[in-house]
Amino acid sequence: MASLQSVIQGIYTELLSRLGSGKVADYIPELAKVNPRRFGIAVATVDGDVHAVGDAEESFSIQSISKVFALTLALGTHGDALWKRVGREPSGSAFNSIVQLEHESGIPRNPFINAGAIVVCDAILARHRPKEAIGEILRFVRALADDETVAIDPAVARSEQKTGFRNLALASYMRSFGNLHHPPELTLGVYFHQCAIAMSCRQLARAGLFLANGGCVPSTGFTVVSRERARRICALMLTCGHYDGSGDFAFRVGLPGKSGVGGGILAVAPNRASIAVWSPGLDKHGNSELGTLALQMLAERMGWSIFG
Ligand code: GLN
Repeated sequence: MASLQSVIQGIYTELLSRLGSGKVADYIPELAKVNPRRFGIAVATVDGDVHAVGDAEESFSIQSISKVFALTLALGTHGDALWKRVGREPSGSAFNSIVQLEHESGIPRNPFINAGAIVVCDAILARHRPKEAIGEILRFVRALADDETVAIDPAVARSEQKTGFRNLALASYMRSFGNLHHPPELTLGVYFHQCAIAMSCRQLARAGLFLANGGCVPSTGFTVVSRERARRICALMLTCGHYDGSGDFAFRVGLPGKSGVGGGILAVAPNRASIAVWSPGLDKHGNSELGTLALQMLAERMGWSIFG
């Protein structure tokens, strides 16, 4: 079989003519400033190699990909009690939808739609000041990426704070059902900063590697979560990681994945690799258009689908 490096190089070259496809998110004004022609792929294998191509060393706003790390952290401190406050079902609606919350009494469908991620932040905030909670999330991501240079982009956090009225509505609505334990402004402060973490494909692929390796960081042997929990986080990524595009992502790529409106996707090939792609143009569900295609090609060419 062709080497992994030549496979990603081939995919990159084939997709160059389509750079700029999709639509860059502009509802967070700061995100609209990104160059739509950026494109990077990084693959970190459980054997310890990292293969990268294109703009894989450039930092971008990981946005909702951060929800995977926040969920991992919150499950560590709250355990399965977290599932009393947030469900585990695909939503079939947009990432920032409010409609289901009324029918389901303020319990969001899953931890990856905005409402669910806001509840997860609220859980992390317990017994902390917002700054400490943000620090805890950032330290966790830095440790996973084994890179102290991972940082929060303050301009993105501010931009979202100024314009995040839907998220404020979601948080306030959940507060009215008693499913938010802190004032919406405080919980959202944590949420916006978490979403504003900036990472490169290389850093992100390394940070996701524990999920591909049964919960354990291969290079250090450090157990981040149990094998069972890693499996369950991957199950949620597969069923809920792309919002109302999750079914199509599973159909096309066949791997657990989590997207962000910054144009990044983190995907997991169990027992093989963690993959990060970045292309800012999004499809109608808010998932990277070229990034999804690159992952589809990679999964096909490497035979990595979890469905065999
Ligand atoms: N910070 C973004 C928001 O709350 C995250 C959305 C996303 O990446 N899908 O709208």
